[in-house]
Amino acid sequence: MASSAVALEDVPSVDMMTELLRRFKCSSKPDKRLVLIGPPGSGKGTQSPVIKDEYCLCHLATGDMLRSAVAAKTPLGIKAKEAMDKAMKKPSCEKGFILDGFPRTVVQAEKLDEMLEKQGTKIDKVLNFAIDDSILEERITGRWIHPASGRSYHTKFAPPKVHGFDDVTGEPLIQRKDDTAQVLKSRLEAFHKQTEPVIDYYAKKGVLAQLHAEKPPKEVTVEVQKVLSS
Ligand code: ADP
Repeated sequence: MASSAVALEDVPSVDMMTELLRRFKCSSKPDKRLVLIGPPGSGKGTQSPVIKDEYCLCHLATGDMLRSAVAAKTPLGIKAKEAMDKAMKKPSCEKGFILDGFPRTVVQAEKLDEMLEKQGTKIDKVLNFAIDDSILEERITGRWIHPASGRSYHTKFAPPKVHGFDDVTGEPLIQRKDDTAQVLKSRLEAFHKQTEPVIDYYAKKGVLAQLHAEKPPKEVTVEVQKVLSS
């Protein structure tokens, strides 16, 4: 048995019923496999929970899952590939997934396509969070995160109900160490150099959709919904 498994008999009935209801509702949804591309601060993490809930997808924040492989310069190294394969087989990924922060290079995108092809699937849509660099500094330096869930807040644009604490759990929020104007510069350079070509890669495959990521969060959500319902 998986060591992280919770004994079902200890799960409160209301939680179990809620989850059963969710799975029942989700069973009629079409499969979707999505990639979110955009520079740091473009709003991927903010839109992900909305997309995830509406389309019954799992959110694969590959930043965590694949960072080691990227650091080791193995584009989709054995370990990362295994981790991804395993993640995609979780019940929460039954209807598909949202890849957030991956692929970051064309080589990674090619490897991902190969891997999906072997499974008889493919990426259905790539959402490009297009935004001008000049907007990102204020977004990044004002970002606060709830580490356990990945929920993003912003001191000005999306403040939590209680300053410094997560709306849902009441737990403390943190600022990421690399969310500074200085580090943002190098993250943006890497984005333009390595990740922007990935946008072209998917455009050529005819799966790219453009978003106006500089708009307020709710307006971006509406754009996402339009793209995904078409
Ligand atoms: P990413 O996941 O792309 O790095 P986030 O979703 O974490 O970006 O957003 C970065 C910061 O900007 C967060 O503090 C978030 O609350 C805020 N934010 C996200 N989308 C918008 C938006 N459309 N307008 C203004 N602020 C936003």
